[in-house]
Amino acid sequence: MKPALALLGGQPAVSQPAAYVWPPITDEDVAGIVRLLRARELSYYGREGEVERLEDAFKDYLGLRHALAMSSGTAALHSAFFGVGLGPGDEVLAPTFTFLSTVMPIFVVNAMPVLVDAEPDTGNIDPQDLERRITERTKAVVITHMQGHPCDMEAIQALTRKHRLALIEDCSHAHGARYKDRFVGTFGDASIFSLQGSKIVAAGQGGLLLTNHQEIYERATLLGHFKVRSAQEVRSERYRPFAGTGYGLNYRMHPLAAALARSQFGRLDEYLQGRHDNLSYLSARLKGIPGIEPPIVREYVTRHAWFTYRPLFRPSALEGVSMELYLRALRAEGVPIEKASSTPLHLEPLFQVDDDGSRTYGWERGDLTGPRRRYKPGDLPRSEQYANATFVLPPYTEPVRPVLDQYVEAFRKVAEHAAELSTRFPSPPTGP
Ligand SMILES: *Cc1c(COP(=O)(O)O)cnc(C)c1O
Repeated sequence: MKPALALLGGQPAVSQPAAYVWPPITDEDVAGIVRLLRARELSYYGREGEVERLEDAFKDYLGLRHALAMSSGTAALHSAFFGVGLGPGDEVLAPTFTFLSTVMPIFVVNAMPVLVDAEPDTGNIDPQDLERRITERTKAVVITHMQGHPCDMEAIQALTRKHRLALIEDCSHAHGARYKDRFVGTFGDASIFSLQGSKIVAAGQGGLLLTNHQEIYERATLLGHFKVRSAQEVRSERYRPFAGTGYGLNYRMHPLAAALARSQFGRLDEYLQGRHDNLSYLSARLKGIPGIEPPIVREYVTRHAWFTYRPLFRPSALEGVSMELYLRALRAEGVPIEKASSTPLHLEPLFQVDDDGSRTYGWERGDLTGPRRRYKPGDLPRSEQYANATFVLPPYTEPVRPVLDQYVEAFRKVAEHAAELSTRFPSPPTGP
């Protein structure tokens, strides 16, 4: 006899779920912060100290010329959009399926985001849909390597080169990921990394902008790193006169955050190896179990960063078990699985209404080239399909294979009991 489902009073398949705590904090992390505190090294005006060391470490790792540490990834994105020279009337192609910060700062430079559909299996921006949305006003493309899976860079670069568009890479999920052996973050005109506390390199709060272009670096420096740093770094005739004032913001990173980010960054390769050892193993073992499909990994991915682990729901083999019931059954077995909560941006109120309440974006006043885009559900259908079909499991970094084996048993057990589940918990009838 098959062991009974935990949801129906049987023994759970998982004896003790593995905890996921992020980031790991070592004595070295603590010592680095305490040292700065004792020295009152709590603010930098120039390019110096822990901020300089963090920037050097990142740019050496990626082989890029400039790195600029910031107070957040969002600040780095704003600086990248400003840095490449976007302004009123410019359109920026951007994924609808991403974290909001990839897109929202486009409004702050008074440009217009044009949302692009996702690949239904990876969730990354779909190059074919991207191409369809290029107009004569398109000036830039921003992409996100979602969950640490690199985007289809050859297809995307073919388009940005052909149409002479600036390319900005949001690498906030993908520190150290590689596309065909080349680091993400080295394809764009500028790339940004969030260092927020949940990210693979965690500063608590922080971000980085990287670029090979002197002009982008100087503009980003003037936007948020005034005076002393600008005097050090802004060299061109065109921008040098403005070093004394900058362009109005303070986006400098906190030294304590920089210290933490730098010691975390020193362990990045170790973290990625740990995630790979666990999650590639989990994917291999989940393969073939009805109801669940491991995250898709394209052949061009030579290193996945596994920001989260997102398998897909495949209900056709589950005898009518709904996603909600499937989750309940798995959670009763002890699997810490959840429905992924990300909503494609085009379904958010801001992209659905005429008046967004902000009075700052200008579109309603008619002083820019066109109305802010409004979308309806179904307009970018494959992003919705992906968002509705994905689960999330923690990206375990410490070795946990024995617990993963129990999770696999739980998935198998629930699949084997699918018919019983749908009989015992019939879905409410739909329709009139
Ligand atoms: C976290 C994140 C950001 C924003 O970073 P903050 O440092 O929180 O401002 C931007 N883009 C993506 C894809 C992110 O996951």
